[in-house]
Amino acid sequence: MNLPQPFLDRITAQLGSETETFLEALQRPANVSLRLNSIKIRAGENEQDLQLEAVPWATDAYYLAERPLFTCDPLLHAGCYYVQEPSSMLLEQAIEWIKRRENPETILDLCAAPGGKTTHLMSLLPEESLIVSNEVIRSRAWILAENVTKWSGANTVVTNNDPADFGALGELFDVMVVDAPCSGEGLFRKDEESVNQWTPENLQLCSRRQKRILSDTLPSLNVGGYLVYCTCTFNPTENEEIVRWLIQDEGYQLVDLQLDESWGFTELEIDSGKAYQAYPHQVRGEGFFLAVLQKQRPSKTVPKSTQQQRKRKPKKSKRGRCTPCEDEPTPQVRKGYELTTRRTAEPFENWLNEERTLRFINRGEQVSAFPKRWVEELLRIQDQLKVITLGVHVCEMKKHGAIPAHGLALSSIFNRESFPSVEVDWQTALRYLRREPIETSLPDGIGIVSYQGHPLGWVKQIGPRSNNWYPQEWRIRMSLPEEQLWSILKK
Ligand code: SAM
Repeated sequence: MNLPQPFLDRITAQLGSETETFLEALQRPANVSLRLNSIKIRAGENEQDLQLEAVPWATDAYYLAERPLFTCDPLLHAGCYYVQEPSSMLLEQAIEWIKRRENPETILDLCAAPGGKTTHLMSLLPEESLIVSNEVIRSRAWILAENVTKWSGANTVVTNNDPADFGALGELFDVMVVDAPCSGEGLFRKDEESVNQWTPENLQLCSRRQKRILSDTLPSLNVGGYLVYCTCTFNPTENEEIVRWLIQDEGYQLVDLQLDESWGFTELEIDSGKAYQAYPHQVRGEGFFLAVLQKQRPSKTVPKSTQQQRKRKPKKSKRGRCTPCEDEPTPQVRKGYELTTRRTAEPFENWLNEERTLRFINRGEQVSAFPKRWVEELLRIQDQLKVITLGVHVCEMKKHGAIPAHGLALSSIFNRESFPSVEVDWQTALRYLRREPIETSLPDGIGIVSYQGHPLGWVKQIGPRSNNWYPQEWRIRMSLPEEQLWSILKK
């Protein structure tokens, strides 16, 4: 690894006598770890099966001895786990700290693709909460939506917006996670490209962009709410300086998470508060920085769009208030959204095992299930933002009836009794995930293909033929090995 000289000069000044061990650590392979989706795989049961070493600062998270060919494990595609770098799972300590003091209900993950932090938040927060997961780059927003769908949860909305669009929402979020785009020094040993792209100028540009992203979005954080700011870099310009700016200019207060010392995170004292840095020679993980700050007063920086919005201030939602009665005629809702009545929901309502707390929402032919209690907030969000997916995509309403959607098959609210299913072996599962034709013993009609008890998606059986309904854009494109080399579960 050929590290740029200005980086070496700075890190030497920063780490002093530890520089050599830091540089040695950069020569070693990056850690490989994953987080189980506890809704789909029960940790207690699988800890024994897995015989893996736990990541101490996160639940259901484990180190692997080496990086297997994850793509060839059907359980990854079933949303049973997410491959995530260990240091960034420190988010859990921030959320648990907040949960011990408050009951955060509305959460924004602003820079969310590909979805590591969002899927973690989905596991950490109760299903009564509302999670808005945003990504500004459109192609990446679709990857985020795919990972959110696989993880499964009716309480998550995926949006595709620039941070500047959030100011117009007004105060809405109890917690905001900003995993900011950064110079990526912490990824040097994982990604050669981050070394090539590193320049002192780019570092300054990143810092200015981080300030802009925060200034644009912080007006939508409630006073008293928490900002979790993180980067995967070591440099103070993008870390400590940003935190100091939030404290001194915006009045934020840094909170002390009191992490277990044995984990190896370095405490950085900033204005008598603490932020946390993971260095790869001290923590079993990649480079990472995290700070939790509490908002003390309304944001000073008010983006233009917010100023307009303040003139027509959105009504504050009254949580727990009834959304329109389900037996009323379908109310027309802004921008082509409709709330489905009980009558129109008849063809598909028994496909869900949990329907009391959910509301069906139509967008054109698309029907999604979304928590009733957050419908008002959803309407407020979709007035200002580009919503990519919301809740669980249940079905498409076609002329000849309701066609179940892929999101339903992967979701925890899917009533498995409502469709026949067939269990397939590893080879057939991969052929299915490549969208190739497979043979099944299913009766004619629509059915589920499952692997080790976990649904992978739909097929439509017509006589001896089955049409593979796996989403075209998600299919595995690589050529596959002859035999199974690795599985998260023992067979
Ligand atoms: N939180 C993600 C996770 O855990 O999987 C990783 C996020 S990555 C560190 C930063 C994200 O910020 C990228 O997805 C990138 O596309 C997005 N991004 C890039 N430029 C941005 C900008 N100007 N405003 C907001 N987000 C931006």
